[in-house]
Amino acid sequence: DEAPAPAPIRRLQESLINRIAAGEIIHRPASALKELLENSLDAGATTIRVTVKDGGLKFLQIQDNGCGIRQSDLPILAERFTTSKLSTFSDLSKLTTYGFRGEALASISHVAHLSVVTKTRTSACAYKVHYSDGKLVPAQRGQSEEPKPCAGNDGTTITIENLFFNAPTRLSALRNTSEEYARILDVLTKYAIHNSKVSFTCKKAGSPSPDLSTPSASTTRHAIKMLYGPSIEKDLLQVTVNENKNNEESWSSEVYLTNVNYQGKKMIFLLFINSRLVESSRIKRAIENVYTGVLPKGAAPFVYLSLRIDPQSVDVNVHPTKKEVHFLNEEEITVQICNTLQAKLAEQSQSRVFEYQT
Ligand code: ADP
Ligand code: MG
Repeated sequence: DEAPAPAPIRRLQESLINRIAAGEIIHRPASALKELLENSLDAGATTIRVTVKDGGLKFLQIQDNGCGIRQSDLPILAERFTTSKLSTFSDLSKLTTYGFRGEALASISHVAHLSVVTKTRTSACAYKVHYSDGKLVPAQRGQSEEPKPCAGNDGTTITIENLFFNAPTRLSALRNTSEEYARILDVLTKYAIHNSKVSFTCKKAGSPSPDLSTPSASTTRHAIKMLYGPSIEKDLLQVTVNENKNNEESWSSEVYLTNVNYQGKKMIFLLFINSRLVESSRIKRAIENVYTGVLPKGAAPFVYLSLRIDPQSVDVNVHPTKKEVHFLNEEEITVQICNTLQAKLAEQSQSRVFEYQT
C-alpha cells in the first residue's frame, strides 16, 4: 500500500485557536467556578453566592460584594492578558493575589455566553455587559454593546450560560450533571474552609434552600464542623509548623488534622498553597504514611493543610491551572511538616493510653 498524499497545511482560524486554548484552562464547570471564586476573593468579597443549573453547564452564576469593576474597564475585561493584578515582570514573583494573567474571563468568553453586572462603591449605578470571544457584544441583535446602566448592589455578578455550546465533544463528555454539581460543591466547600471569614452559599436555580451555606466571620474549626460534620471536628487537632532563616520566616503552615480516634473511609485532603487550592500527590502520600502507623488498616484521616511559601519558590513554569504543583525545597518542607504531625499524633495517642490506664 502506498502512503496517502499529504493533506495541505492550513492556518487555523483565530476563533478556533482561542477556543482550543480556552478548553485547556476551563475544563468543566467546577474549573470555571474556581476562577470566578478566586476573582471574587481577590476583589475582597465577604459574601459569595453561587447559583447553578444543570451542573453549571446551562447556567453558573456567582454574585459577590467585592470592589466591583470600573465602567471604563469593561470594554477590555474579557480580552486575553488584561488584568489589574500584574504590571511588571518582577511583580510575578511577589504575587499575593490568586489571578495574574487575565486569562480566565477571556477563556470563558470563548466557550460560553458570559455576562457581567458590576458596581463600584463610588458609581451611582451598576452596569451590565455581555461578552463573546473576548469582546463586548450587544445583549440582542441590533442593540448597542456599550455597558448598560442598571440597578444593582455594590459588587459583581458574573453569569456563564451554555458552557461549551461550541465545543460538542467536551460537552458530551460532561453529561452527568449531578457529578458536575458535586464537583462544584466540593470546590466551594474547600474554599469555604480556607476562607472562613467569608460567607458562601450555593444553590440550584429555582430551589428554595441552599445546598451549602456558611456564615460570615466564622472560624476554620467551625467551618469544618459545619461542612464536614461534628464527628470530624470533635477529633480535630491543630498544628502550626514554620521555619525561620536569618530571623525571617521562610515558610509557614497551618494544619488541621484528625486524631487517631477518627477513622474515615477515604482520606479527605485539602491543600492550599498561598491560598490557592492545589493538588500534590507527593504531599498527600507523605501524610497518608504518617497515619499508616497509627490508624487501623482501611481507616483514613481528614487533613487540611494551608502552606505559605515565598511566591518566588513556586515553579512558575508549571501552568497555574495545572492543579498539581511543585515548589522549591518541597521534599524538606514536607518532611518537616510530617515529622511534626507524627509527633502530635503520638503525643495525643500516648495521653489517651495514659488516661485509659489510670
Ligand atoms: P486575573 O484574575 O488573572 O487578573 P481574570 O480574567 O480572572 O484575570 O480577570 C480579569 C480582571 O477582571 C481582574 O484582574 C479584575 O480586575 C477583574 N475582575 C474579574 N472578576 C472580578 C470580580 N468578581 N470583582 C472585581 N473585579 C473582577
Ligand atoms: Mg482571575
